[in-house]
Amino acid sequence: MSLIVQKYGGSSVADAESVKRVAKRIVETRKAGHDVVVAVSAMGDTTDELLDLAQTVTPLPEPRELDMLLSAGERISMAVLAMAIKGMGYDAQSFTGSQAGMLTDAHHGAARIVDVTPVRVRKALDAGAIAIVAGFQGFNRDTMDITTLGRGGSDTTAVALAAALDADICEIYTDVDGIFTSDPRVVPKAHKIDTITSEEMLELAAAGAKVLYIRAVEYARRHGVTLHVRSSFNTNEGTLVINPK
Ligand code: ADP
Ligand code: ASP
Ligand code: MG
Repeated sequence: MSLIVQKYGGSSVADAESVKRVAKRIVETRKAGHDVVVAVSAMGDTTDELLDLAQTVTPLPEPRELDMLLSAGERISMAVLAMAIKGMGYDAQSFTGSQAGMLTDAHHGAARIVDVTPVRVRKALDAGAIAIVAGFQGFNRDTMDITTLGRGGSDTTAVALAAALDADICEIYTDVDGIFTSDPRVVPKAHKIDTITSEEMLELAAAGAKVLYIRAVEYARRHGVTLHVRSSFNTNEGTLVINPK
Protein backbone atom coordinates (compact mmCIF):
# COMPACT_ATOMS: atom_id res chain seq x y z
CA MET A 1 0.00 0.00 0.00
CA SER A 2 1.32 3.43 -0.85
CA LEU A 3 0.64 6.91 0.42
CA ILE A 4 -0.50 9.34 -2.24
CA VAL A 5 -0.84 13.09 -1.80
CA GLN A 6 -3.24 14.69 -4.27
CA LYS A 7 -3.67 18.43 -4.80
CA TYR A 8 -6.76 19.80 -6.52
CA GLY A 9 -6.58 23.39 -7.76
CA GLY A 10 -9.44 25.89 -7.75
CA SER A 11 -10.37 25.15 -11.36
CA SER A 12 -10.89 21.48 -10.44
CA VAL A 13 -13.33 22.32 -7.63
CA ALA A 14 -15.11 25.31 -9.16
CA ASP A 15 -18.66 24.24 -8.21
CA ALA A 16 -20.62 21.56 -6.35
CA GLU A 17 -20.65 19.20 -9.34
CA SER A 18 -16.86 19.48 -9.65
CA VAL A 19 -16.43 18.82 -5.95
CA LYS A 20 -18.43 15.59 -6.37
CA ARG A 21 -16.37 14.62 -9.42
CA VAL A 22 -13.15 15.17 -7.47
CA ALA A 23 -14.55 13.29 -4.46
CA LYS A 24 -15.23 10.32 -6.74
CA ARG A 25 -11.67 10.40 -8.01
CA ILE A 26 -10.28 10.49 -4.47
CA VAL A 27 -12.52 7.57 -3.47
CA GLU A 28 -11.27 5.58 -6.50
CA THR A 29 -7.69 6.06 -5.26
CA ARG A 30 -8.69 4.91 -1.78
CA LYS A 31 -10.55 1.90 -3.25
CA ALA A 32 -7.36 0.92 -5.07
CA GLY A 33 -5.87 0.42 -1.59
CA HIS A 34 -3.85 3.61 -1.10
CA ASP A 35 -3.71 5.99 1.83
CA VAL A 36 -4.81 9.36 0.49
CA VAL A 37 -4.04 12.87 1.71
CA VAL A 38 -5.60 15.73 -0.26
CA ALA A 39 -4.57 19.39 -0.37
CA VAL A 40 -7.39 21.47 -1.80
CA SER A 41 -7.56 25.04 -3.09
CA ALA A 42 -10.46 27.46 -2.73
CA MET A 43 -13.36 26.84 -5.13
CA GLY A 44 -13.06 28.59 -8.50
CA ASP A 45 -12.40 32.33 -8.19
CA THR A 46 -13.12 32.48 -4.45
CA THR A 47 -9.71 33.92 -3.53
CA ASP A 48 -10.05 36.72 -6.11
CA GLU A 49 -13.57 37.45 -4.88
CA LEU A 50 -12.38 37.66 -1.27
CA LEU A 51 -9.58 40.02 -2.34
CA ASP A 52 -12.16 42.20 -4.12
CA LEU A 53 -14.33 42.17 -1.02
CA ALA A 54 -11.41 43.37 1.11
CA GLN A 55 -10.70 46.15 -1.41
CA THR A 56 -14.26 47.37 -1.25
CA VAL A 57 -14.03 47.97 2.49
CA THR A 58 -10.54 49.50 2.55
CA PRO A 59 -7.84 50.21 -0.06
CA LEU A 60 -5.02 48.76 2.06
CA PRO A 61 -6.35 45.87 4.13
CA GLU A 62 -4.27 44.91 7.14
CA PRO A 63 -2.17 41.84 6.17
CA ARG A 64 -3.15 39.84 9.26
CA GLU A 65 -6.86 40.33 8.58
CA LEU A 66 -6.40 39.68 4.86
CA ASP A 67 -4.90 36.27 5.67
CA MET A 68 -7.81 35.52 8.01
CA LEU A 69 -10.18 36.38 5.17
CA LEU A 70 -8.36 34.51 2.37
CA SER A 71 -7.88 31.37 4.46
CA ALA A 72 -11.69 31.10 4.60
CA GLY A 73 -11.73 30.10 0.91
CA GLU A 74 -9.86 26.85 1.49
CA ARG A 75 -11.83 26.19 4.69
CA ILE A 76 -14.98 26.04 2.57
CA SER A 77 -13.57 23.68 -0.05
CA MET A 78 -11.97 21.29 2.47
CA ALA A 79 -15.24 20.91 4.37
CA VAL A 80 -17.49 20.39 1.33
CA LEU A 81 -15.00 17.94 -0.17
CA ALA A 82 -14.88 15.92 3.07
CA MET A 83 -18.70 15.96 3.20
CA ALA A 84 -18.97 14.76 -0.39
CA ILE A 85 -16.59 11.86 0.32
CA LYS A 86 -18.49 10.93 3.48
CA GLY A 87 -21.70 11.03 1.44
CA MET A 88 -20.17 8.35 -0.78
CA GLY A 89 -19.70 6.11 2.22
CA TYR A 90 -15.96 6.68 2.79
CA ASP A 91 -14.43 8.17 5.88
CA ALA A 92 -12.83 11.60 5.50
CA GLN A 93 -11.69 14.34 7.86
CA SER A 94 -10.85 17.92 6.94
CA PHE A 95 -8.09 19.95 8.57
CA THR A 96 -7.13 23.61 8.42
CA GLY A 97 -3.46 24.39 7.77
CA SER A 98 -2.83 24.91 11.48
CA GLN A 99 -4.59 21.65 12.42
CA ALA A 100 -2.43 19.87 9.85
CA GLY A 101 0.75 21.29 11.44
CA MET A 102 1.68 23.63 8.59
CA LEU A 103 4.03 25.91 10.54
CA THR A 104 5.30 29.05 8.81
CA ASP A 105 7.21 32.24 9.45
CA ALA A 106 5.12 35.32 10.26
CA HIS A 107 5.23 36.89 6.78
CA HIS A 108 1.55 37.51 5.99
CA GLY A 109 0.64 36.99 2.34
CA ALA A 110 3.86 35.16 1.46
CA ALA A 111 4.71 32.99 4.46
CA ARG A 112 7.35 30.30 4.17
CA ILE A 113 6.92 26.86 5.66
CA VAL A 114 9.42 26.30 8.48
CA ASP A 115 8.17 22.94 9.77
CA VAL A 116 5.37 20.44 9.14
CA THR A 117 3.98 18.40 12.03
CA PRO A 118 1.08 16.45 10.52
CA VAL A 119 0.20 14.47 13.66
CA ARG A 120 -3.55 14.71 13.14
CA VAL A 121 -3.27 13.85 9.45
CA ARG A 122 -1.31 10.72 10.36
CA LYS A 123 -3.91 9.80 12.99
CA ALA A 124 -6.71 10.18 10.45
CA LEU A 125 -4.85 7.89 8.03
CA ASP A 126 -4.20 5.35 10.77
CA ALA A 127 -7.93 5.33 11.49
CA GLY A 128 -8.59 4.55 7.83
CA ALA A 129 -9.82 8.01 6.85
CA ILE A 130 -8.95 10.17 3.87
CA ALA A 131 -7.34 13.40 5.13
CA ILE A 132 -8.36 16.63 3.42
CA VAL A 133 -6.08 19.59 4.17
CA ALA A 134 -6.81 23.22 3.35
CA GLY A 135 -4.16 24.43 0.92
CA PHE A 136 -2.41 27.82 0.92
CA GLN A 137 -2.54 28.43 4.68
CA GLY A 138 -0.36 27.99 7.72
CA PHE A 139 0.18 29.10 11.28
CA ASN A 140 2.95 31.03 12.99
CA ARG A 141 3.85 29.80 16.46
CA ASP A 142 5.24 33.12 17.74
CA THR A 143 2.35 35.33 16.74
CA MET A 144 -0.22 32.48 16.94
CA ASP A 145 -1.70 33.90 13.74
CA ILE A 146 -2.98 32.36 10.51
CA THR A 147 -0.77 32.98 7.48
CA THR A 148 -1.08 32.38 3.74
CA LEU A 149 1.68 31.10 1.47
CA GLY A 150 1.27 33.38 -1.58
CA ARG A 151 -0.93 33.01 -4.67
CA GLY A 152 -0.76 29.44 -5.94
CA GLY A 153 0.45 28.31 -2.52
CA SER A 154 -1.72 25.18 -2.34
CA ASP A 155 0.94 23.53 -4.49
CA THR A 156 3.42 24.10 -1.65
CA THR A 157 0.97 22.67 0.90
CA ALA A 158 0.78 19.45 -1.12
CA VAL A 159 4.54 19.14 -1.59
CA ALA A 160 5.25 19.90 2.08
CA LEU A 161 2.74 17.26 3.19
CA ALA A 162 4.24 14.74 0.76
CA ALA A 163 7.72 15.40 2.18
CA ALA A 164 6.63 15.27 5.83
CA LEU A 165 4.60 12.08 5.36
CA ASP A 166 7.20 10.47 3.08
CA ALA A 167 4.55 9.97 0.39
CA ASP A 168 5.26 7.82 -2.64
CA ILE A 169 4.02 10.47 -5.06
CA CYS A 170 2.56 13.95 -5.02
CA GLU A 171 -0.11 14.35 -7.71
CA ILE A 172 -0.98 17.91 -8.75
CA TYR A 173 -4.40 17.90 -10.42
CA THR A 174 -5.20 20.89 -12.58
CA ASP A 175 -7.14 21.95 -15.70
CA VAL A 176 -4.47 21.09 -18.32
CA ASP A 177 -2.97 17.69 -19.19
CA GLY A 178 0.42 18.45 -17.66
CA ILE A 179 3.34 20.79 -18.14
CA PHE A 180 3.68 22.10 -21.69
CA THR A 181 6.57 23.78 -23.49
CA SER A 182 4.51 27.02 -23.20
CA ASP A 183 1.09 27.87 -21.78
CA PRO A 184 -1.22 25.71 -23.96
CA ARG A 185 -4.00 28.29 -23.63
CA VAL A 186 -1.79 30.95 -25.23
CA VAL A 187 0.38 28.86 -27.57
CA PRO A 188 -1.80 26.21 -29.29
CA LYS A 189 1.30 24.51 -30.75
CA ALA A 190 2.82 23.92 -27.30
CA HIS A 191 3.33 20.25 -26.58
CA LYS A 192 3.13 18.27 -23.36
CA ILE A 193 6.37 17.28 -21.66
CA ASP A 194 6.40 13.71 -20.27
CA THR A 195 9.25 14.16 -17.81
CA ILE A 196 11.07 17.26 -16.61
CA THR A 197 13.61 17.81 -13.82
CA SER A 198 12.71 20.17 -11.00
CA GLU A 199 15.72 22.24 -12.10
CA GLU A 200 14.22 22.70 -15.59
CA MET A 201 10.76 23.31 -14.09
CA LEU A 202 12.20 26.10 -11.95
CA GLU A 203 13.34 27.81 -15.14
CA LEU A 204 9.88 27.45 -16.71
CA ALA A 205 8.23 28.78 -13.55
CA ALA A 206 10.67 31.70 -13.38
CA ALA A 207 9.74 32.47 -17.01
CA GLY A 208 6.12 32.79 -15.87
CA ALA A 209 4.59 29.30 -16.20
CA LYS A 210 2.13 29.50 -13.32
CA VAL A 211 1.13 25.84 -13.69
CA LEU A 212 3.28 25.17 -10.59
CA TYR A 213 4.09 27.68 -7.85
CA ILE A 214 7.84 28.27 -7.93
CA ARG A 215 8.23 27.79 -4.17
CA ALA A 216 6.54 24.39 -4.44
CA VAL A 217 9.07 23.31 -7.06
CA GLU A 218 11.93 24.54 -4.86
CA TYR A 219 10.50 22.63 -1.91
CA ALA A 220 10.13 19.47 -4.02
CA ARG A 221 13.72 19.74 -5.20
CA ARG A 222 15.06 20.30 -1.69
CA HIS A 223 13.12 17.39 -0.21
CA GLY A 224 13.32 15.00 -3.18
CA VAL A 225 9.55 14.86 -3.78
CA THR A 226 8.46 13.53 -7.19
CA LEU A 227 5.48 15.39 -8.68
CA HIS A 228 2.95 14.18 -11.22
CA VAL A 229 1.16 17.14 -12.78
CA ARG A 230 -2.03 15.97 -14.51
CA SER A 231 -5.60 16.84 -15.41
CA SER A 232 -8.47 16.25 -13.00
CA PHE A 233 -10.78 16.12 -16.05
CA ASN A 234 -9.37 12.93 -17.62
CA THR A 235 -7.16 9.97 -16.71
CA ASN A 236 -4.29 10.75 -19.11
CA GLU A 237 -0.75 10.49 -17.84
CA GLY A 238 0.55 13.97 -17.10
CA THR A 239 4.09 15.25 -16.53
CA LEU A 240 6.55 13.79 -14.02
CA VAL A 241 8.77 16.33 -12.26
CA ILE A 242 11.78 14.37 -11.07
CA ASN A 243 14.86 15.05 -8.95
CA PRO A 244 17.81 13.15 -10.41
CA LYS A 245 20.65 12.50 -7.94
P1 ADP B 1 -4.91 25.38 -10.49
O1 ADP B 1 -6.21 26.08 -10.26
O2 ADP B 1 -5.11 23.92 -10.77
O3 ADP B 1 -3.87 25.65 -9.45
P2 ADP B 1 -3.49 27.21 -12.26
O4 ADP B 1 -4.39 28.15 -12.98
O5 ADP B 1 -2.71 27.72 -11.10
O6 ADP B 1 -4.37 25.94 -11.87
O7 ADP B 1 -2.44 26.56 -13.28
C1 ADP B 1 -2.89 25.91 -14.44
C2 ADP B 1 -2.79 26.86 -15.63
O8 ADP B 1 -1.41 27.16 -15.88
C3 ADP B 1 -3.26 26.27 -16.94
O9 ADP B 1 -4.64 26.45 -17.13
C4 ADP B 1 -2.42 26.99 -17.98
O10 ADP B 1 -3.16 27.96 -18.68
C5 ADP B 1 -1.33 27.67 -17.17
N1 ADP B 1 0.04 27.45 -17.68
C6 ADP B 1 0.96 28.42 -17.84
N2 ADP B 1 2.09 27.93 -18.34
C7 ADP B 1 1.91 26.60 -18.51
C8 ADP B 1 2.73 25.53 -18.98
N3 ADP B 1 4.00 25.72 -19.40
N4 ADP B 1 2.21 24.27 -19.02
C9 ADP B 1 0.93 24.06 -18.59
N5 ADP B 1 0.11 25.03 -18.13
C10 ADP B 1 0.58 26.29 -18.08
N1 ASP C 1 -6.55 29.82 -3.43
C1 ASP C 1 -5.20 30.33 -3.51
C2 ASP C 1 -5.01 31.18 -4.78
O1 ASP C 1 -5.97 31.37 -5.51
C3 ASP C 1 -4.16 29.23 -3.44
C4 ASP C 1 -4.14 28.27 -4.61
O2 ASP C 1 -5.10 28.23 -5.36
O3 ASP C 1 -3.13 27.55 -4.74
O4 ASP C 1 -3.94 31.64 -5.01
MG1 MG D 1 -2.27 26.99 -9.16
